Amino acid sequence: MELVEESPYRFRIDRHDPMRVPGVVFASRSLLPDAGADKSLEQVANVATLPGIVDASYAMPDVHWGYGFPIGGVAATDVAHGGVVSPGGVGFDISCGVRLLAADVDRDGLRPRLDALMDGLGEATPRGMGKGAVWHLSSRKELDAVLRGGSRYAVERGFGVERDLHRCEDHGAVGDADPAQVGERAIERGARQVGSLGSGNHFLEVQAVEEVYDEATATAFGLRPGQVCVMIHCGSRGLGHQICTDHVRAMEKVMARHGIHVPDRQLACAPVSSHEGRAYLGAMAAAANYARANRQLLADAARKVFARVTGSRLDLVYDISHNLAKIEEHEVDGERRALCVHRKGATRALPPGHADLPDDLRDVGQPVLIPGSMGTGSYVLTGVPGAPAFASTCHGAGRVQSRKQAVKAERGLDPRGQLEARDIAVRGASRRGLAEEMPSAYKDVSAVVAAAEGAGLCRKVARLVPLGVVKG
Ligand code: 5GP
Ligand code: MN
Ligand code: MN
Repeated sequence: MELVEESPYRFRIDRHDPMRVPGVVFASRSLLPDAGADKSLEQVANVATLPGIVDASYAMPDVHWGYGFPIGGVAATDVAHGGVVSPGGVGFDISCGVRLLAADVDRDGLRPRLDALMDGLGEATPRGMGKGAVWHLSSRKELDAVLRGGSRYAVERGFGVERDLHRCEDHGAVGDADPAQVGERAIERGARQVGSLGSGNHFLEVQAVEEVYDEATATAFGLRPGQVCVMIHCGSRGLGHQICTDHVRAMEKVMARHGIHVPDRQLACAPVSSHEGRAYLGAMAAAANYARANRQLLADAARKVFARVTGSRLDLVYDISHNLAKIEEHEVDGERRALCVHRKGATRALPPGHADLPDDLRDVGQPVLIPGSMGTGSYVLTGVPGAPAFASTCHGAGRVQSRKQAVKAERGLDPRGQLEARDIAVRGASRRGLAEEMPSAYKDVSAVVAAAEGAGLCRKVARLVPLGVVKG
Protein backbone atom coordinates (compact mmCIF):
# COMPACT_ATOMS: atom_id res chain seq x y z
CA MET A 1 0.00 0.00 0.00
CA GLU A 2 1.55 3.28 -1.19
CA LEU A 3 1.30 6.03 1.45
CA VAL A 4 2.02 9.69 0.71
CA GLU A 5 3.05 11.74 3.74
CA GLU A 6 1.03 14.97 3.58
CA SER A 7 2.12 16.27 6.98
CA PRO A 8 3.66 14.72 10.13
CA TYR A 9 0.32 13.20 11.22
CA ARG A 10 -1.48 12.74 7.92
CA PHE A 11 -0.88 10.15 5.19
CA ARG A 12 -2.79 9.72 1.93
CA ILE A 13 -3.62 6.64 -0.07
CA ASP A 14 -4.12 8.01 -3.58
CA ARG A 15 -7.35 7.11 -5.29
CA HIS A 16 -6.95 4.25 -7.75
CA ASP A 17 -9.65 2.07 -9.32
CA PRO A 18 -12.07 1.01 -7.96
CA MET A 19 -11.67 3.56 -5.12
CA ARG A 20 -14.13 6.46 -5.39
CA VAL A 21 -12.25 8.73 -2.95
CA PRO A 22 -8.72 8.71 -1.46
CA GLY A 23 -7.82 7.15 1.87
CA VAL A 24 -6.52 9.36 4.67
CA VAL A 25 -4.65 7.93 7.66
CA PHE A 26 -4.05 10.13 10.70
CA ALA A 27 -0.98 8.71 12.44
CA SER A 28 2.68 9.26 13.13
CA ARG A 29 5.04 7.15 11.05
CA SER A 30 5.75 4.86 14.01
CA LEU A 31 2.04 4.27 14.66
CA LEU A 32 1.32 3.09 11.11
CA PRO A 33 0.22 -0.55 11.16
CA ASP A 34 2.76 -3.13 10.06
CA ALA A 35 1.54 -4.11 6.58
CA GLY A 36 2.80 -7.68 7.00
CA ALA A 37 0.71 -8.43 10.08
CA ASP A 38 -2.28 -6.13 9.76
CA LYS A 39 -4.38 -5.50 6.66
CA SER A 40 -6.14 -2.40 7.99
CA LEU A 41 -4.69 -0.02 5.38
CA GLU A 42 -5.98 -2.30 2.62
CA GLN A 43 -9.31 -2.09 4.39
CA VAL A 44 -9.15 1.72 4.30
CA ALA A 45 -8.77 1.48 0.50
CA ASN A 46 -11.60 -1.09 0.24
CA VAL A 47 -13.98 1.17 2.17
CA ALA A 48 -13.19 3.94 -0.34
CA THR A 49 -15.01 1.89 -3.03
CA LEU A 50 -18.41 2.06 -1.30
CA PRO A 51 -21.27 3.68 -3.28
CA GLY A 52 -21.92 7.29 -2.28
CA ILE A 53 -18.78 7.71 -0.12
CA VAL A 54 -17.71 11.35 0.14
CA ASP A 55 -14.49 13.15 0.98
CA ALA A 56 -12.23 10.25 1.99
CA SER A 57 -12.06 6.91 3.76
CA TYR A 58 -10.47 7.88 7.07
CA ALA A 59 -8.36 5.99 9.61
CA MET A 60 -7.64 7.23 13.13
CA PRO A 61 -4.24 6.75 14.85
CA ASP A 62 -5.50 3.64 16.70
CA VAL A 63 -6.41 1.90 13.43
CA HIS A 64 -6.18 -1.89 13.28
CA TRP A 65 -7.68 -4.83 11.45
CA GLY A 66 -11.43 -5.36 11.76
CA TYR A 67 -14.39 -7.07 10.08
CA GLY A 68 -14.53 -5.46 6.61
CA PHE A 69 -13.89 -1.95 7.87
CA PRO A 70 -10.82 -1.27 10.00
CA ILE A 71 -11.34 -0.53 13.70
CA GLY A 72 -10.53 3.17 13.96
CA GLY A 73 -12.28 3.86 10.65
CA VAL A 74 -14.61 6.71 9.66
CA ALA A 75 -16.56 6.83 6.40
CA ALA A 76 -19.53 8.97 5.32
CA THR A 77 -21.90 8.35 2.43
CA ASP A 78 -24.28 10.80 0.76
CA VAL A 79 -27.81 9.65 1.56
CA ALA A 80 -29.46 11.43 -1.40
CA HIS A 81 -26.96 10.08 -3.92
CA GLY A 82 -27.08 6.32 -3.44
CA GLY A 83 -25.03 6.33 -0.26
CA VAL A 84 -24.93 2.98 1.52
CA VAL A 85 -24.94 1.84 5.12
CA SER A 86 -22.76 -1.14 6.02
CA PRO A 87 -23.06 -3.10 9.30
CA GLY A 88 -19.32 -3.81 9.10
CA GLY A 89 -18.77 -0.05 9.35
CA VAL A 90 -20.41 -0.07 12.76
CA GLY A 91 -19.06 -3.35 14.07
CA PHE A 92 -20.52 -6.30 15.94
CA ASP A 93 -20.69 -4.55 19.30
CA ILE A 94 -23.18 -1.87 18.22
CA SER A 95 -22.83 1.35 20.25
CA CYS A 96 -20.06 -0.08 22.37
CA GLY A 97 -18.84 2.94 24.24
CA VAL A 98 -17.43 4.57 27.32
CA ARG A 99 -18.97 6.38 30.25
CA LEU A 100 -16.97 8.42 32.76
CA LEU A 101 -18.19 9.37 36.24
CA ALA A 102 -16.40 11.71 38.64
CA ALA A 103 -16.45 11.07 42.40
CA ASP A 104 -16.39 13.72 45.13
CA VAL A 105 -13.48 11.98 46.78
CA ASP A 106 -9.74 12.25 46.06
CA ARG A 107 -7.25 9.47 45.60
CA ASP A 108 -5.67 9.96 49.05
CA GLY A 109 -9.05 9.94 50.76
CA LEU A 110 -10.03 6.73 48.99
CA ARG A 111 -6.84 4.76 49.63
CA PRO A 112 -7.83 3.11 52.95
CA ARG A 113 -11.13 1.92 51.42
CA LEU A 114 -9.96 1.00 47.92
CA ASP A 115 -9.90 -2.74 48.60
CA ALA A 116 -13.41 -2.75 50.04
CA LEU A 117 -14.59 -0.60 47.15
CA MET A 118 -13.11 -2.97 44.57
CA ASP A 119 -14.70 -5.96 46.33
CA GLY A 120 -18.08 -4.20 46.22
CA LEU A 121 -17.72 -3.21 42.57
CA GLY A 122 -16.60 -6.73 41.66
CA GLU A 123 -19.72 -8.18 43.29
CA ALA A 124 -22.12 -5.59 41.85
CA THR A 125 -20.97 -5.87 38.23
CA PRO A 126 -22.40 -8.84 36.31
CA ARG A 127 -19.79 -9.94 33.77
CA GLY A 128 -18.38 -12.77 31.71
CA MET A 129 -19.94 -14.64 28.83
CA GLY A 130 -23.72 -14.46 29.32
CA LYS A 131 -23.62 -14.68 33.13
CA GLY A 132 -26.19 -12.63 35.02
CA ALA A 133 -27.45 -9.09 34.62
CA VAL A 134 -28.90 -6.20 36.65
CA TRP A 135 -32.31 -6.67 35.02
CA HIS A 136 -34.13 -9.86 34.18
CA LEU A 137 -36.76 -8.93 31.63
CA SER A 138 -39.84 -11.02 31.68
CA SER A 139 -41.65 -9.68 28.64
CA ARG A 140 -40.94 -8.63 25.09
CA LYS A 141 -42.81 -5.41 25.88
CA GLU A 142 -40.28 -4.46 28.54
CA LEU A 143 -37.33 -5.22 26.29
CA ASP A 144 -38.95 -3.06 23.59
CA ALA A 145 -39.04 -0.21 26.11
CA VAL A 146 -35.27 -0.59 26.56
CA LEU A 147 -34.75 -0.74 22.78
CA ARG A 148 -36.71 2.49 22.30
CA GLY A 149 -35.78 4.36 25.46
CA GLY A 150 -32.12 3.54 26.21
CA SER A 151 -30.70 5.37 29.23
CA ARG A 152 -33.84 7.50 29.37
CA TYR A 153 -35.93 4.41 30.14
CA ALA A 154 -33.46 3.27 32.80
CA VAL A 155 -33.66 6.70 34.45
CA GLU A 156 -37.48 6.63 34.28
CA ARG A 157 -37.33 3.34 36.13
CA GLY A 158 -35.25 4.93 38.88
CA PHE A 159 -31.75 3.87 37.78
CA GLY A 160 -30.21 7.33 37.64
CA VAL A 161 -31.11 11.02 37.69
CA GLU A 162 -32.37 13.41 35.04
CA ARG A 163 -29.01 15.21 34.92
CA ASP A 164 -27.39 12.00 33.63
CA LEU A 165 -29.35 12.34 30.40
CA HIS A 166 -27.91 15.82 29.68
CA ARG A 167 -24.48 14.22 29.75
CA CYS A 168 -25.36 11.37 27.38
CA GLU A 169 -25.07 11.58 23.62
CA ASP A 170 -28.55 11.98 22.11
CA HIS A 171 -29.91 12.60 25.65
CA GLY A 172 -29.59 8.90 26.32
CA ALA A 173 -31.56 7.46 23.42
CA VAL A 174 -31.27 7.61 19.64
CA GLY A 175 -34.45 8.16 17.64
CA ASP A 176 -35.82 5.86 14.93
CA ALA A 177 -35.23 2.63 16.81
CA ASP A 178 -37.35 -0.10 15.23
CA PRO A 179 -37.58 -3.14 17.51
CA ALA A 180 -39.59 -4.94 14.79
CA GLN A 181 -36.31 -5.24 12.81
CA VAL A 182 -34.60 -7.05 15.69
CA GLY A 183 -34.77 -10.82 15.10
CA GLU A 184 -36.02 -13.40 17.60
CA ARG A 185 -32.56 -14.81 18.30
CA ALA A 186 -31.21 -11.31 19.06
CA ILE A 187 -34.14 -10.67 21.42
CA GLU A 188 -33.56 -13.97 23.15
CA ARG A 189 -29.86 -13.21 23.68
CA GLY A 190 -30.55 -9.64 24.76
CA ALA A 191 -33.31 -10.33 27.30
CA ARG A 192 -30.90 -12.01 29.71
CA GLN A 193 -28.09 -9.46 29.54
CA VAL A 194 -29.51 -5.99 30.29
CA GLY A 195 -27.02 -4.47 32.75
CA SER A 196 -23.95 -6.63 32.24
CA LEU A 197 -20.37 -5.87 31.29
CA GLY A 198 -19.51 -8.68 28.89
CA SER A 199 -16.06 -10.15 28.59
CA GLY A 200 -12.46 -9.41 27.57
CA ASN A 201 -11.88 -5.83 26.57
CA HIS A 202 -14.87 -4.52 28.56
CA PHE A 203 -14.22 -3.13 32.00
CA LEU A 204 -15.22 -0.99 34.93
CA GLU A 205 -12.18 0.88 36.19
CA VAL A 206 -11.55 3.09 39.20
CA GLN A 207 -9.15 5.82 38.12
CA ALA A 208 -7.55 9.02 39.38
CA VAL A 209 -6.97 12.27 37.50
CA GLU A 210 -3.18 12.29 37.18
CA GLU A 211 -2.68 15.37 35.05
CA VAL A 212 -4.80 18.26 33.76
CA TYR A 213 -3.75 19.99 30.51
CA ASP A 214 -6.58 22.53 30.29
CA GLU A 215 -7.92 23.60 33.65
CA ALA A 216 -10.92 25.60 32.44
CA THR A 217 -12.22 22.79 30.25
CA ALA A 218 -11.54 20.14 32.89
CA THR A 219 -13.50 22.22 35.41
CA ALA A 220 -16.42 22.50 33.01
CA PHE A 221 -16.33 18.72 32.58
CA GLY A 222 -16.31 18.34 36.40
CA LEU A 223 -12.71 17.10 36.72
CA ARG A 224 -9.83 18.21 38.97
CA PRO A 225 -6.35 16.83 39.76
CA GLY A 226 -6.28 13.90 42.20
CA GLN A 227 -10.00 13.21 41.81
CA VAL A 228 -11.29 9.64 41.71
CA CYS A 229 -13.28 8.60 38.61
CA VAL A 230 -15.05 5.53 37.31
CA MET A 231 -14.80 4.55 33.65
CA ILE A 232 -17.19 1.96 32.22
CA HIS A 233 -16.63 0.34 28.81
CA CYS A 234 -19.33 -1.96 27.46
CA GLY A 235 -21.78 -2.35 24.61
CA SER A 236 -24.85 -4.17 23.35
CA ARG A 237 -23.77 -7.72 24.23
CA GLY A 238 -25.26 -10.66 22.31
CA LEU A 239 -28.14 -8.54 21.03
CA GLY A 240 -25.91 -6.21 19.00
CA HIS A 241 -23.78 -9.09 17.77
CA GLN A 242 -26.78 -11.03 16.52
CA ILE A 243 -28.25 -7.94 14.81
CA CYS A 244 -24.99 -7.40 12.94
CA THR A 245 -24.86 -11.07 11.88
CA ASP A 246 -28.50 -11.10 10.72
CA HIS A 247 -28.35 -7.87 8.74
CA VAL A 248 -25.02 -8.66 7.07
CA ARG A 249 -26.64 -11.86 5.83
CA ALA A 250 -29.73 -10.02 4.59
CA MET A 251 -27.62 -7.45 2.73
CA GLU A 252 -25.37 -10.07 1.14
CA LYS A 253 -28.46 -11.48 -0.53
CA VAL A 254 -29.66 -8.22 -2.11
CA MET A 255 -26.44 -6.37 -2.92
CA ALA A 256 -26.31 -7.54 -6.53
CA ARG A 257 -29.95 -6.53 -7.01
CA HIS A 258 -29.01 -3.01 -5.89
CA GLY A 259 -26.13 -3.06 -8.40
CA ILE A 260 -23.50 -3.01 -5.64
CA HIS A 261 -20.18 -4.84 -5.94
CA VAL A 262 -17.61 -4.72 -3.13
CA PRO A 263 -14.02 -5.98 -3.05
CA ASP A 264 -14.59 -7.84 0.26
CA ARG A 265 -17.74 -9.77 1.24
CA GLN A 266 -17.43 -8.32 4.74
CA LEU A 267 -18.33 -4.91 3.28
CA ALA A 268 -21.92 -6.06 2.73
CA CYS A 269 -24.08 -2.94 2.46
CA ALA A 270 -27.30 -1.51 1.04
CA PRO A 271 -28.45 2.00 0.12
CA VAL A 272 -29.52 3.95 3.22
CA SER A 273 -32.89 4.58 1.56
CA SER A 274 -33.52 0.93 0.60
CA HIS A 275 -35.70 -1.46 2.59
CA GLU A 276 -32.60 -3.35 3.83
CA GLY A 277 -30.76 -0.14 4.69
CA ARG A 278 -33.66 1.22 6.72
CA ALA A 279 -34.23 -2.11 8.41
CA TYR A 280 -30.60 -2.26 9.54
CA LEU A 281 -30.61 1.35 10.78
CA GLY A 282 -33.79 0.68 12.79
CA ALA A 283 -32.30 -2.42 14.40
CA MET A 284 -28.96 -0.69 14.93
CA ALA A 285 -30.67 2.19 16.75
CA ALA A 286 -32.47 -0.34 18.98
CA ALA A 287 -29.11 -1.95 19.83
CA ALA A 288 -27.62 1.49 20.48
CA ASN A 289 -30.34 2.16 23.04
CA TYR A 290 -29.73 -1.23 24.62
CA ALA A 291 -26.02 -0.40 24.99
CA ARG A 292 -26.84 2.94 26.59
CA ALA A 293 -29.29 1.41 29.04
CA ASN A 294 -26.59 -1.13 29.82
CA ARG A 295 -24.06 1.57 30.76
CA GLN A 296 -26.72 3.45 32.74
CA LEU A 297 -27.54 0.36 34.82
CA LEU A 298 -23.91 -0.49 35.51
CA ALA A 299 -23.24 3.13 36.50
CA ASP A 300 -26.18 3.03 38.90
CA ALA A 301 -24.86 -0.17 40.47
CA ALA A 302 -21.42 1.47 40.87
CA ARG A 303 -23.02 4.54 42.46
CA LYS A 304 -24.68 2.42 45.13
CA VAL A 305 -21.39 0.72 45.99
CA PHE A 306 -19.57 4.07 46.12
CA ALA A 307 -22.19 5.55 48.43
CA ARG A 308 -22.09 2.52 50.74
CA VAL A 309 -18.32 2.09 50.93
CA THR A 310 -17.04 5.67 50.62
CA GLY A 311 -20.07 7.92 51.20
CA SER A 312 -19.18 9.60 47.93
CA ARG A 313 -21.33 10.65 44.96
CA LEU A 314 -20.61 9.87 41.30
CA ASP A 315 -21.52 12.54 38.73
CA LEU A 316 -21.68 11.66 35.07
CA VAL A 317 -19.02 13.44 32.99
CA TYR A 318 -20.20 11.99 29.66
CA ASP A 319 -21.27 8.86 27.82
CA ILE A 320 -20.06 8.24 24.26
CA SER A 321 -20.50 5.54 21.71
CA HIS A 322 -17.58 4.44 19.51
CA ASN A 323 -19.38 1.98 17.18
CA LEU A 324 -22.25 3.65 15.36
CA ALA A 325 -23.62 5.02 12.10
CA LYS A 326 -25.46 8.31 12.32
CA ILE A 327 -27.30 10.48 9.80
CA GLU A 328 -25.68 13.91 10.17
CA GLU A 329 -25.53 17.10 8.15
CA HIS A 330 -22.09 18.17 6.97
CA GLU A 331 -20.72 20.51 4.35
CA VAL A 332 -19.37 18.70 1.28
CA ASP A 333 -18.06 20.71 -1.70
CA GLY A 334 -19.64 23.87 -0.26
CA GLU A 335 -23.09 22.26 0.20
CA ARG A 336 -24.92 21.01 3.32
CA ARG A 337 -25.72 17.34 2.81
CA ALA A 338 -27.25 14.53 4.83
CA LEU A 339 -24.52 11.93 5.34
CA CYS A 340 -24.53 8.50 6.90
CA VAL A 341 -21.39 8.75 9.02
CA HIS A 342 -19.97 5.37 10.05
CA ARG A 343 -17.69 5.45 13.08
CA LYS A 344 -16.22 2.11 14.00
CA GLY A 345 -13.74 2.31 16.82
CA ALA A 346 -14.01 6.08 16.51
CA THR A 347 -15.95 8.65 18.51
CA ARG A 348 -17.55 11.97 17.79
CA ALA A 349 -15.51 14.96 18.96
CA LEU A 350 -17.88 17.91 18.75
CA PRO A 351 -16.25 21.38 18.80
CA PRO A 352 -17.33 24.28 21.03
CA GLY A 353 -20.60 25.79 19.83
CA HIS A 354 -22.04 22.59 18.35
CA ALA A 355 -25.84 22.37 18.58
CA ASP A 356 -25.78 18.78 19.91
CA LEU A 357 -23.84 19.74 23.06
CA PRO A 358 -25.59 20.19 26.41
CA ASP A 359 -25.95 23.85 27.43
CA ASP A 360 -23.30 23.68 30.16
CA LEU A 361 -20.71 22.35 27.68
CA ARG A 362 -21.70 24.52 24.70
CA ASP A 363 -18.68 26.83 25.08
CA VAL A 364 -16.03 24.18 25.79
CA GLY A 365 -16.80 21.26 23.46
CA GLN A 366 -17.61 17.59 23.92
CA PRO A 367 -15.81 15.36 26.40
CA VAL A 368 -14.06 12.63 24.37
CA LEU A 369 -13.24 9.52 26.42
CA ILE A 370 -10.21 7.46 25.37
CA PRO A 371 -9.41 4.31 27.37
CA GLY A 372 -5.76 3.24 27.05
CA SER A 373 -5.19 0.02 28.98
CA MET A 374 -5.69 -1.32 32.49
CA GLY A 375 -1.99 -0.94 33.22
CA THR A 376 -1.16 2.46 31.75
CA GLY A 377 -3.72 5.24 31.56
CA SER A 378 -6.63 6.82 29.74
CA TYR A 379 -7.41 10.29 28.41
CA VAL A 380 -10.16 12.87 28.33
CA LEU A 381 -10.03 15.05 25.22
CA THR A 382 -12.31 17.59 23.60
CA GLY A 383 -13.35 18.54 20.08
CA VAL A 384 -11.77 21.43 18.17
CA PRO A 385 -13.25 23.78 15.55
CA GLY A 386 -12.77 22.94 11.87
CA ALA A 387 -11.54 19.38 12.46
CA PRO A 388 -11.46 16.96 9.52
CA ALA A 389 -13.21 13.56 9.34
CA PHE A 390 -16.70 14.83 10.25
CA ALA A 391 -15.69 15.77 13.82
CA SER A 392 -14.34 12.34 14.80
CA THR A 393 -11.32 11.02 16.63
CA CYS A 394 -9.74 7.80 17.94
CA HIS A 395 -11.49 5.55 20.48
CA GLY A 396 -8.63 3.93 22.38
CA ALA A 397 -5.04 2.87 22.04
CA GLY A 398 -5.87 0.15 19.50
CA ARG A 399 -4.53 -3.40 19.50
CA VAL A 400 -1.11 -4.31 18.18
CA GLN A 401 -1.35 -7.98 19.18
CA SER A 402 -4.24 -10.30 18.46
CA ARG A 403 -5.72 -11.92 21.56
CA LYS A 404 -3.91 -15.13 20.71
CA GLN A 405 -0.55 -13.39 20.29
CA ALA A 406 -1.06 -11.55 23.57
CA VAL A 407 -1.72 -14.80 25.45
CA LYS A 408 1.41 -16.32 23.92
CA ALA A 409 3.52 -13.29 24.91
CA GLU A 410 2.37 -13.63 28.55
CA ARG A 411 3.06 -17.38 28.74
CA GLY A 412 4.92 -18.18 31.95
CA LEU A 413 4.37 -14.64 33.24
CA ASP A 414 1.94 -13.49 35.89
CA PRO A 415 -0.36 -10.78 34.50
CA ARG A 416 -2.25 -10.21 37.76
CA GLY A 417 1.02 -10.01 39.71
CA GLN A 418 2.40 -7.46 37.26
CA LEU A 419 -0.63 -5.22 37.75
CA GLU A 420 -0.69 -5.62 41.53
CA ALA A 421 3.01 -4.80 41.69
CA ARG A 422 2.01 -1.44 40.20
CA ASP A 423 -0.69 -0.97 42.86
CA ILE A 424 -3.55 -1.72 40.47
CA ALA A 425 -6.23 -3.86 42.12
CA VAL A 426 -7.78 -6.51 39.87
CA ARG A 427 -11.18 -8.15 40.34
CA GLY A 428 -12.83 -11.00 38.57
CA ALA A 429 -10.89 -11.85 35.49
CA SER A 430 -9.45 -15.13 34.29
CA ARG A 431 -5.71 -15.44 33.81
CA ARG A 432 -6.27 -15.81 30.08
CA GLY A 433 -8.61 -12.81 30.00
CA LEU A 434 -5.98 -10.64 31.67
CA ALA A 435 -3.20 -11.91 29.42
CA GLU A 436 -5.24 -10.92 26.34
CA GLU A 437 -5.54 -7.38 27.67
CA MET A 438 -2.09 -6.55 29.04
CA PRO A 439 -0.74 -3.11 28.09
CA SER A 440 1.73 -4.72 25.65
CA ALA A 441 -1.26 -5.91 23.54
CA TYR A 442 -2.08 -2.26 22.79
CA LYS A 443 -0.38 0.72 21.15
CA ASP A 444 1.01 3.43 23.41
CA VAL A 445 -2.10 5.49 24.19
CA SER A 446 -0.04 8.66 24.77
CA ALA A 447 1.44 8.38 21.27
CA VAL A 448 -2.03 7.75 19.79
CA VAL A 449 -3.49 10.77 21.56
CA ALA A 450 -0.50 12.94 20.55
CA ALA A 451 -1.07 11.93 16.91
CA ALA A 452 -4.79 12.67 17.13
CA GLU A 453 -4.01 16.09 18.60
CA GLY A 454 -1.21 16.69 16.10
CA ALA A 455 -3.57 15.88 13.24
CA GLY A 456 -6.01 18.55 14.50
CA LEU A 457 -8.77 16.08 15.45
CA CYS A 458 -9.04 16.96 19.14
CA ARG A 459 -7.25 18.47 22.14
CA LYS A 460 -6.03 16.96 25.43
CA VAL A 461 -7.87 17.89 28.64
CA ALA A 462 -6.78 15.35 31.27
CA ARG A 463 -4.98 12.05 31.82
CA LEU A 464 -6.33 9.37 34.14
CA VAL A 465 -4.43 6.48 35.75
CA PRO A 466 -5.91 3.17 36.94
CA LEU A 467 -6.31 2.36 40.65
CA GLY A 468 -8.36 -0.81 40.19
CA VAL A 469 -10.09 -2.68 37.42
CA VAL A 470 -13.07 -5.03 37.17
CA LYS A 471 -12.51 -6.93 33.95
CA GLY A 472 -15.16 -8.67 31.93
P1 5GP B 1 -12.44 -1.74 21.97
O1 5GP B 1 -13.73 -1.03 22.00
O2 5GP B 1 -11.76 -1.55 20.65
O3 5GP B 1 -12.49 -3.15 22.38
O4 5GP B 1 -11.53 -1.08 23.10
C1 5GP B 1 -11.29 0.29 23.16
C2 5GP B 1 -9.97 0.55 23.82
O5 5GP B 1 -10.07 0.28 25.21
C3 5GP B 1 -8.82 -0.31 23.38
O6 5GP B 1 -8.28 0.15 22.16
C4 5GP B 1 -7.85 -0.16 24.53
O7 5GP B 1 -6.98 0.93 24.30
C5 5GP B 1 -8.74 0.17 25.72
N1 5GP B 1 -8.78 -0.84 26.80
C6 5GP B 1 -8.99 -2.18 26.71
N2 5GP B 1 -9.03 -2.75 27.93
C7 5GP B 1 -8.85 -1.76 28.84
C8 5GP B 1 -8.83 -1.69 30.29
O8 5GP B 1 -8.96 -2.67 31.01
N3 5GP B 1 -8.66 -0.46 30.84
C9 5GP B 1 -8.52 0.69 30.09
N4 5GP B 1 -8.37 1.86 30.71
N5 5GP B 1 -8.52 0.65 28.74
C10 5GP B 1 -8.70 -0.54 28.12
MN1 MN C 1 -17.31 -3.71 22.82
MN1 MN D 1 -15.55 -0.74 22.66
